[in-house]
Amino acid sequence: MTGSDGAPAPKTLDALVIGAGPAGIGTALALSAVDDLMIGVIDRGQIGQTFLDWPTKQTFLTPSFTGNGFGATDLNAVHPRTSPAYSLGTDYLTGPQYAKYLRSVVQHFQVPVLPHTEVTAVEPAGDEFTVTTSRGPVSAHTVVWAGGEFSDRPEARLAGISLSDHSATGAAWEPRSGRMIVIGGYESGIDIACHHIEQGAQVTVVDAGSPWDAGPGSDPSFRLAPRSRMRLNAAAATGRLTLTGAHASSIKRDGAEWVVSLGNGTRIRADSRPIAATGFGPGLGPVSGLFTLRGDGWPELDDDDQSTITPGLFLSGPAMRHGALKFCFVYKFRQRFAHIARVIGEAQGKECGGLEEWRTAGMLTDDLSCCGVECAC
Ligand SMILES: Cc1cc2nc3c(=O)[nH]c(=O)nc-3n(C[C@H](O)[C@H](O)[C@H](O)COP(=O)(O)OP(=O)(O)OC[C@H]3O[C@@H](n4cnc5c(N)ncnc54)[C@H](O)[C@@H]3O)c2cc1C
Repeated sequence: MTGSDGAPAPKTLDALVIGAGPAGIGTALALSAVDDLMIGVIDRGQIGQTFLDWPTKQTFLTPSFTGNGFGATDLNAVHPRTSPAYSLGTDYLTGPQYAKYLRSVVQHFQVPVLPHTEVTAVEPAGDEFTVTTSRGPVSAHTVVWAGGEFSDRPEARLAGISLSDHSATGAAWEPRSGRMIVIGGYESGIDIACHHIEQGAQVTVVDAGSPWDAGPGSDPSFRLAPRSRMRLNAAAATGRLTLTGAHASSIKRDGAEWVVSLGNGTRIRADSRPIAATGFGPGLGPVSGLFTLRGDGWPELDDDDQSTITPGLFLSGPAMRHGALKFCFVYKFRQRFAHIARVIGEAQGKECGGLEEWRTAGMLTDDLSCCGVECAC
């Protein structure tokens, strides 16, 4: 994908993938299994940049394990014949460990990645796209946006939100003592609350939806993961954790304290800036104008994960939604890599038999009606 001077080559690629995280690398691997497709991956940073940017105390909550030989591919793998647990000897990976796994996959399968190249604009032009990058233009018949959500931290609708630290920032993970408040009680809120309790702080978690009480349902997008529940129980046993099922309406400064007002009329006080574990947006960056948004703010996709207003532009990654289904974990969104690759390959008249490996490994879901299964016990 690069010319001799290191600049992007002036050819039209069959598919350009933007983003070299698990979604981008996984989609590129599936595209590589289609015969004779010319593809490339671009990232503004390094391979796995988001994981290099994770707060250092952050780890995966989905465990890695080498079940590949028995049809249970490692939950965090992006290719059927790989396993982060195998290559790193770890079950709950840190960000740098996962970035190392992605780098080794790229090297082994020789995925063409152009790092340190920012995409600033994507424009449909006839039957191809002109992609403007910090190293010059690239042309492609198809574009897959895999830019992730990590850098999209929409400010919660809460007066005084600027007085808080988002849970994805390093500041939120710095040691704090005394009373702390975490706004948001799903995975990232419980994760950071447990982290600070383990360091000796006294933490109140505030969330109107009380996610820690989620009822029946086996989808981890709507229930805390088992590891989070175990950590929550250990945190509760210290007597320094309070879970409050209320809406946070404002944050104010009062001398040396921070005061969070709740929808139930009460106020709670903290000795440090509250932490906003309020999630991420779809992170569409330069392609935001090329998708319409659903009522809940996530991009509207057709059944093939393609923009409903820009044919040839696909989305891969955690921002993917189909009806009520959320694809926010690696083991969920990877189910679509081979489907996207097949749609792109077939549109260009290519042989796609190589993708059967993904189906055999249980890494292909092309019938979206089958995802809503509940466990019997
Ligand atoms: C704190 C946190 C914890 C999580 N824990 C888990 C977990 O335990 N298990 C799990 O399965 N999932 C987890 N997730 C879900 C998460 O969505 C995925 O793990 C993963 O990061 C998403 O992969 P991705 O490839 O879509 O995005 P990313 O990994 O963010 O990759 C996107 C890439 O795109 C690049 N990029 C963005 N914009 C541009 C541009 N304009 N030009 C060029 N390059 C660009 C970025 O540099 C980046 O490298 C977690 C998410 C967060 C935020």
